[in-house]
Amino acid sequence: MQDNILMADLLLPNIDKTPDYYENIYPTRKLPEGARVVRVAPSPTGYLHLGVLFVSLVNRITATSSGGIFFTRIEDTDKKREVKGGIEDIIGGLKRFGIFPDEGFISGNEQKGDYGPYQQSHRAEIYQTYVKELLRLGLAYPCFCTAEELEKVRNEQESQKIRTGYHGKWAKHRDITYAEAKALINEGKQFVIRLKSPGNEENKVVFEDAIKGKIEMPENDEDFVLLKSDGIPTYHFAHAIDDHLMHTTHVLRGDEWISSVPKHIQLFKLLGFKVPKFGHISPIMKLDNGAKRKISKRKDPEAAVHFFAEEGYMSDAVIEYLMTIAASDFEDWRRANPDKSYEEFKFNLKKMSVSGALFDGVKLLDVSKNIVCRLSSGEVYDYVTAWAKEYDTEFYNVLTKEPEYSKSVFAIDRDVPKPRKDIAKWNEVKEYFAYMFEEYYTPCFELPENIQKADATAFLEEYKKVYSPDDDRQEWFNKIKLVAPKLGFAAETKEYKANPDAYKGSAGDLSTVLRIAITGRRNTPDLCSIMQVLGKDECIKRIENAIRG
Ligand code: GLU
Repeated sequence: MQDNILMADLLLPNIDKTPDYYENIYPTRKLPEGARVVRVAPSPTGYLHLGVLFVSLVNRITATSSGGIFFTRIEDTDKKREVKGGIEDIIGGLKRFGIFPDEGFISGNEQKGDYGPYQQSHRAEIYQTYVKELLRLGLAYPCFCTAEELEKVRNEQESQKIRTGYHGKWAKHRDITYAEAKALINEGKQFVIRLKSPGNEENKVVFEDAIKGKIEMPENDEDFVLLKSDGIPTYHFAHAIDDHLMHTTHVLRGDEWISSVPKHIQLFKLLGFKVPKFGHISPIMKLDNGAKRKISKRKDPEAAVHFFAEEGYMSDAVIEYLMTIAASDFEDWRRANPDKSYEEFKFNLKKMSVSGALFDGVKLLDVSKNIVCRLSSGEVYDYVTAWAKEYDTEFYNVLTKEPEYSKSVFAIDRDVPKPRKDIAKWNEVKEYFAYMFEEYYTPCFELPENIQKADATAFLEEYKKVYSPDDDRQEWFNKIKLVAPKLGFAAETKEYKANPDAYKGSAGDLSTVLRIAITGRRNTPDLCSIMQVLGKDECIKRIENAIRG
């Protein structure tokens, strides 16, 4: 025991606090029964990824549903991989998707809450204090093996077909004495501090994963590294200390960590901490040539969330879509509660996919259309112009030239009781409404096969005489029906269907002629509204152009 204390002071001479100090300054949280404390712990190694957004959403909604706390913690112990502005990219990115932390980093340079600092690189002394305690208890020791030595051990293990790693008889410094350690340190040798694992591979660790259910794995017997030679902890150790001191109740993280759970449970127990609940979130998957694979930062543009911003997806739509992936009962709830915020949904981790949900771009478009169709024309104008300002300046200039005109374009089939579900994302708008803007309109008078050019032209001549820009929808169609019989077309579709030989077509066919003359297309939103917005002069001009052919 005496040796252990000497060893602790030898290895970490500057640490003069004990764990009690931190236990006192980070007391148990006072929260209502059932409130969950969860977190997302990103590394600031680049822009926000879909995976981090998804894990954050799952954590946010878990906290919200239980009246708990969701905090962010920056895991920046790997300084080599860190990118400048990385924290802001991630936290700012989450905020753009409406995901706000209650605590932790709330922007690139602001932290909030009583359990900080929420950045691992600023917690070195805390980790070292707990390592020192493990050293005192004889549960940790210094290891002086060089990278070459470790490599040699690994090769030897591989050639003997033995599980690789620093365990059992392969753990060279496991029984190092104080005197030996002191001598090596005096020689200037570098060391890491390892856990002296009391685990046995023959034993099983069983835990109940909050998402995946019961999981059984061999106990950890590896003397894994707690502190690296620069005094910075490994992920495993920092995770145990931070989630204990920050009083995380549920560790909900990517399932690449599942194989490390035996190490984590062991650490929590050896440190005398309550083991949190673990829930391992399956990654979002993609279909690649018929095979399911994890969405990849390298191969899939949608892995980086700025892809969605560039395409002009509303962040609400992306979140709504991710909710359908997160919870198998979300869509039923949404049908029953079309107007509620997703934050009111009672989220249950047991409703998450165990194997990994497929990213379905078609579904995302559909979810988006449902959201966009509920916006007013003014809202659409604001969103589209904000998007265009960043990604399509030319379109931005066209839209903002006459804002009232642009808004009236977006009001077509929108500010009505049953709005049309057409637009999913803002980069579709220019093409969708091209014929409403002179900069983009290209006349095209190509008729369907069943209509003769001469009939179409004759119709347009007649129609021009009766057309009035003040006609409402009913009057507008009445006029087409009025002209139809003069040209040998049936006023009513049903008359035409009953006796097609007696007619050249129906009033419906004639409205198609008019639609093509006005817009150059066969399919558009309500043509009467389009003509009202374009105005009389423009409509007459387009009709005359079509007549001239
Ligand atoms: N920094 C880890 C990661 O990004 C966090 C894992 C965790 O949530 O504990 O994978």
